[in-house]
Amino acid sequence: MKRLREFAYFEPADLDDAVEILSGAGQGGRALAGGTDLVVDMKTGRMRPTTVVNLKRIPGLEGVQPADGGSRIGALTKVAAIESSSLVRDGHRALAKAAGVLASPPVRGMATLGGNIGRASPASDLAPPLIVHRAVATIESRNGPRDEPVEGLFTGPGATTLATGDIITSIFLPDSPPRFGSAHLKIGTRGSGTDIAMVGVSAGVILDAAGGIVDARIVLASVAPTPMRALKAEQVLAGLAPSDEVLEAAAETAAGECQPITDLRASASHRVALVRVLTRRALIEAVDTARSGEAA
Ligand SMILES: Cc1cc2nc3c(=O)[nH]c(=O)nc-3n(C[C@H](O)[C@H](O)[C@H](O)COP(=O)(O)OP(=O)(O)OC[C@H]3O[C@@H](n4cnc5c(N)ncnc54)[C@H](O)[C@@H]3O)c2cc1C
Repeated sequence: MKRLREFAYFEPADLDDAVEILSGAGQGGRALAGGTDLVVDMKTGRMRPTTVVNLKRIPGLEGVQPADGGSRIGALTKVAAIESSSLVRDGHRALAKAAGVLASPPVRGMATLGGNIGRASPASDLAPPLIVHRAVATIESRNGPRDEPVEGLFTGPGATTLATGDIITSIFLPDSPPRFGSAHLKIGTRGSGTDIAMVGVSAGVILDAAGGIVDARIVLASVAPTPMRALKAEQVLAGLAPSDEVLEAAAETAAGECQPITDLRASASHRVALVRVLTRRALIEAVDTARSGEAA
């Protein structure tokens, strides 16, 4: 059996101490949350941190709370708690749906929101709905806290704008506007909804009083080096009534603008075909939800 490389291990009970230790460790420092990515990566040798800082003893990093103008989710909140949170389910349906199809219940009971963002997988289930819901990350650093839209955090597979010592402390979800609806769909490698995504699609629409589309967001997973907004497809929808033809045209545009690679999980052409099907279905679901006035 492969042995883990030696590393220094810390469990600080104070956020500033955690930032200080990680900053001092430089490139070799890694925050540890649920460990469902990091520990696996350390065992396979993909990650070889020299310093691991477990965040679990730092108070105030876990839970979903109402906040001014929205809801705030602590970075250490488990995916299972996001799935079952009424605050998330009622106003941020795509995120609740995505949390419900991330891996299996045992993994969802360990995996955290901050870890999902920190891992920056192109196949992430949580990043697309966070972008649809216009989520903003609060990040603690040596220079103090700062806010960054989740959309701007990802720079490549496994890469983010986070600097050495940066720790995501929470994610703010702004309240959804009236007549907003959203959806998240994915197809996993073994055909089940809970495997790593071959393709994932999150969609959100805002309708006007007459039922026309005021604004739309479509975010794709597993078809680019980072979660990808289908901007051209979003433009197809703007200002139009959401007829079958319009939603189909947007889905076709999304399929045309993504440029996935072929890998062990799926061929590029299969992914393109899936983007078209899932985008159309996700848009229909988002529009239906917006019309029904139910949980958005
Ligand atoms: C069997 C299995 C199936 C999986 N299936 C899926 C799936 O279907 N969809 C999916 O999206 N993912 C899946 N994953 C991946 C994983 O479960 C998620 O990415 C999870 O959310 C990671 O969270 P964690 O708390 O375990 O992160 P960790 O493993 O603790 O950390 C992951 C990375 O994020 C960094 N990090 C952690 N917390 C923070 C923070 N607060 N601030 C800054 N950086 C931080 C760490 O340093 C590390 O680089 C699967 C994993 C396994 C083992």
